Amino acid sequence: MYLKRLDLQGFKSFPEKVKLEFNPGITAVVGPNGSGKSNVSDAVRWVLGEQRAKSLRGDKMEDVIFAGTESRKPQGFAEVTIVIDNQDGRMPVEFTEVQVTRRVFRSGESEYRINGAACRLKDIQELFMDTGVGREGYSIVGQGRIDEILNAKGEERRRIFEEATGIVKYKTRKIEATNK
Ligand code: ATP
Ligand code: MG
Repeated sequence: MYLKRLDLQGFKSFPEKVKLEFNPGITAVVGPNGSGKSNVSDAVRWVLGEQRAKSLRGDKMEDVIFAGTESRKPQGFAEVTIVIDNQDGRMPVEFTEVQVTRRVFRSGESEYRINGAACRLKDIQELFMDTGVGREGYSIVGQGRIDEILNAKGEERRRIFEEATGIVKYKTRKIEATNK
């Protein structure tokens, strides 16, 4: 399972459709200050369901939509698609390639799709649960997160290890079952 492609359109500093291709192994994204490196990692967290505008370095969700420059008009929506190679079947679906898409309009409503079919945010969260990918997944370690993990108190640190070891899915189901 690896990140194969990221398509951005109207997301932050990417007004036109851009396709970023990745290969298995290590990829480094390099570029001058302000060129959009962090916007790429914001796009990954956003498409996986990030709801907190602040964590995407904005004030409101609309701030992820390309705001325009002197020579370009603003965009009406932002759309990001993440393409994941699932040939090893680590994701619990029959597809060997999984595409997750999120689109947001200026009104603020988000639309989600899995391999082109409309779905709920919850479906995306379940899809990635215990794969290590996802909004809270350990696969995205932001600046300052290392210190956060090292300084975390018992409970919080346990949560990180639970996600990493793959038992969150069962805990969530247990909570759902006992609440019914
Ligand atoms: P650094 O090396 O300083 O960390 P970076 O390559 O990570 O830089 P980013 O933070 O990804 O850069 O990109 C910042 C740029 O994105 C700024 O120029 C900012 O104006 C632009 N930007 C962010 N949101 C939007 C938006 N909604 N519309 C247009 N441009 C945006
Ligand atoms: Mg940056």
